[in-house]
Amino acid sequence: MEFSFLTFAAMPDFEKYEAVIGLEVHTQLLTKSKLFCGDSTQFGNPPNTNISAISLAHPGTLPVMNEKAIELAVKLGLAFNCDIVRDNYFARKNYFYPDLPKGYQVTQHTTPICKNGTIPIKVNGKERKVQLNRIHLEEDAGKSIHDADENYTCIDLNRAGVPLLEIVSEPDLFSSEEAFAYVTEIRKMVRHLEVCDGNMEEGSMRCDANVSVRLKGEKKLGTKVEVKNLNSIRNVKKAIDYEIERLIGLLEKGEEVLQQTRSFDANNGTTFSMRSKEEANDYRYFPEPDLAPFSITEEQIETILLSMPELPEQLEARLKLEFSLSDEAAKVIADDRETTSFFESVIQNTEHHKAVANWIIGPLRSYLNENNLDIVRFTVKPKTMARLVNIVEEGQVSFGIAASRIFPELIQAPNKDPLDIANELNLIQEKNNDALHLWIDEVFASMPDKVQEYKKGKKNLTGLFAGEVKKKSRGKADMQAVIKIINQKLNQ
Ligand code: ADP
Ligand code: MG
Repeated sequence: MEFSFLTFAAMPDFEKYEAVIGLEVHTQLLTKSKLFCGDSTQFGNPPNTNISAISLAHPGTLPVMNEKAIELAVKLGLAFNCDIVRDNYFARKNYFYPDLPKGYQVTQHTTPICKNGTIPIKVNGKERKVQLNRIHLEEDAGKSIHDADENYTCIDLNRAGVPLLEIVSEPDLFSSEEAFAYVTEIRKMVRHLEVCDGNMEEGSMRCDANVSVRLKGEKKLGTKVEVKNLNSIRNVKKAIDYEIERLIGLLEKGEEVLQQTRSFDANNGTTFSMRSKEEANDYRYFPEPDLAPFSITEEQIETILLSMPELPEQLEARLKLEFSLSDEAAKVIADDRETTSFFESVIQNTEHHKAVANWIIGPLRSYLNENNLDIVRFTVKPKTMARLVNIVEEGQVSFGIAASRIFPELIQAPNKDPLDIANELNLIQEKNNDALHLWIDEVFASMPDKVQEYKKGKKNLTGLFAGEVKKKSRGKADMQAVIKIINQKLNQ
């Protein structure tokens, strides 16, 4: 939680409370067509062009199930260790809304396709598994557009009937940081499995946050509020922080928390009430009569399992085992598909696999972070990167020089050969003993008192001498050789 401690320093009771959060995350599936008809799901097409009589809910039309949506749902369920429900049917959730032409939404009410399961998160170095309640399939509604016309609200039904997976957690998150990590993990996984593009700004991934607070040690959950319209992971965190502070404020004043649906205002980071429980709908759920129940077989699950890419956790373990990478290196490289595939391409061209990993988590990651770039925008080819790694490992240039001088130059001229750059900039490591002896003698001559101190026993002055040689050589001296020669000369 991000509290302003200055403001709340006078409220010692703040620590008495615990926040409890449950999230409902909607992800739009990457199917080409809608959940119950062949209309395109393409985002950004002109309004009301992805619509047939079925999306428009004309009387007499019948839905047909999109099998790809089932496959994607099972994939995500397996990745999160859910139980896959074998016998499924859809239900009608009845309510009136202008952008819902049928007057009901088709959703899985009693038989969510996936049950239970967990999502691992890591916050402040501590790993924990967040308990899931369910993942179910449902269709999206259309979109009301309030700002296109001065006098009317416009309706775009392109989105009506697009398949969604709703991922519902148990009330098992206890801070906004945990919620942030949880949504981040979901986005990573849906992208990894190509279940959803995870783009919250375009609305293909949306999150509602349920928040309550209770006294620490209390078993019973407090009354929750549900915050809608969270269109970025950052806003999920902001809205939760705001609500926790607001709810504790109410309890501290002795006021009752009302069960409400609230909306987040991204402009000022606050929330406002949309409706309270008294106004809640009675959805009159009943089984959808126009769609046959469907079953998921053992063979189907087997086939889906075989088609799944290696999961980040498995990949991480393999990287550590196969290439002896550190925990950190394995995590960074397994973190997203692009980084993994860059690593895999570079190691095709060099034997120094661990060094490649160190370049990726070191200089390459710093460069990308500083310039706010994605690895897909990195222009140095894997083969060239391997060359750079090789000339360091072969001792032609030092790692420091390669990272600080050659690497930036290579980014400017990605088609150049790293060794050519090293030659042009005169950076090849000096291994020639004559040159090294000369520099070392010059250094000794410039600090005779230090040489005396060394001879009297202050052996740790080696580092000082070596540093001076490094300066003289402008970083080109082979440091291992330098240290050896210094010690030899002074111990003669
Ligand atoms: P509703 O019927 O109001 O949609 P659900 O029981 O289906 O409520 O839960 C919706 C979401 O709210 C779930 O993610 C659940 O974990 C979460 N939730 C339920 N009760 C609480 C609570 N008291 N505090 C925080 N989150 C809660
Ligand atoms: Mg709800």
